[in-house]
Amino acid sequence: GGRIEQYVDITEQKELQSRIERLAVTDELTGVYNRRGLYEFGKRDLARAYRVGTPLCALFLDIDRFKSFNDQYGHTLGDLVLKELSFRIKHQIREMDLFARFGGEEFVVLLPDTPLDQASQMAERIRSVIADTPFDLELDEVSVTISIGITQFRPEDDLTSLLERADRGMYQAKNNGRNRLEWITS
Ligand code: GH3
Ligand code: MG
Ligand code: MG
Repeated sequence: GGRIEQYVDITEQKELQSRIERLAVTDELTGVYNRRGLYEFGKRDLARAYRVGTPLCALFLDIDRFKSFNDQYGHTLGDLVLKELSFRIKHQIREMDLFARFGGEEFVVLLPDTPLDQASQMAERIRSVIADTPFDLELDEVSVTISIGITQFRPEDDLTSLLERADRGMYQAKNNGRNRLEWITS
C-alpha cells in the first residue's frame, strides 16, 4: 500500500503546486491576470513578435474619474464595477490576447498578430461596450467610461517601454476629454 499512498501524495502536491502558481499570476478581485502574469506571459508574446516579425499592439485602459465614483457610491460598488468591467472586456477580446489588471483601475491588453488599425477597432469596441451600457448596481444604473492608449510594438521595445508608450497614450486621452482612444506612433 505504501506505493499507492506515495502516488496520491505526489498528485496532491502537484495539484497544490499548480494552484499556487495560478494564484501567483491572478488578480484576486477580477480573476484576470495580475501584473506578474502580464510580465510572465507578455514577454513571450513580445519575443515571438520580434522573432517572427508579426505586429503586436498594446492597449492601456484606465477608468475615468473613478475616485469620485468611489466617493459617491462606495468602495464595494467600485469593486463590483471593476469585476463587471473586466468581464465585459474579456468578452471583446480573443483567446490569444493577454488581458491583465495592471493595478488599481488600470488594465492592459496585449494583442498579438494585430496591426494598429485592427487594435484600434478592438479598443473602440471595448470603449463603447463600457460607455454605452450602464452598470447595474443595486438600486442604481451608473455609466462608467474609460480612456485608452494604443501603441504598436517596435523591435527596440521591451514590455516596459511598450507599456510606457501605451500609458502615455492613455494620458493624452485623459487630457483630450476622456472616454476616448489616443495613439502613440512617434
Ligand atoms: P482619471 O479620470 O484621471 O483617471 O481619474 P481617477 O479618479 O480615476 O484617477 P485617480 O488615479 O486619481 O484615482 C484612481 C482611483 O481608483 C483611486 C481609487 O479610489 C480607485 N481604485 C483603485 N483601485 C481600486 C479598487 O481595487 N477598488 C475600488 N473600489 N477602487 C479602486
Ligand atoms: Mg489610474
Ligand atoms: Mg482613473
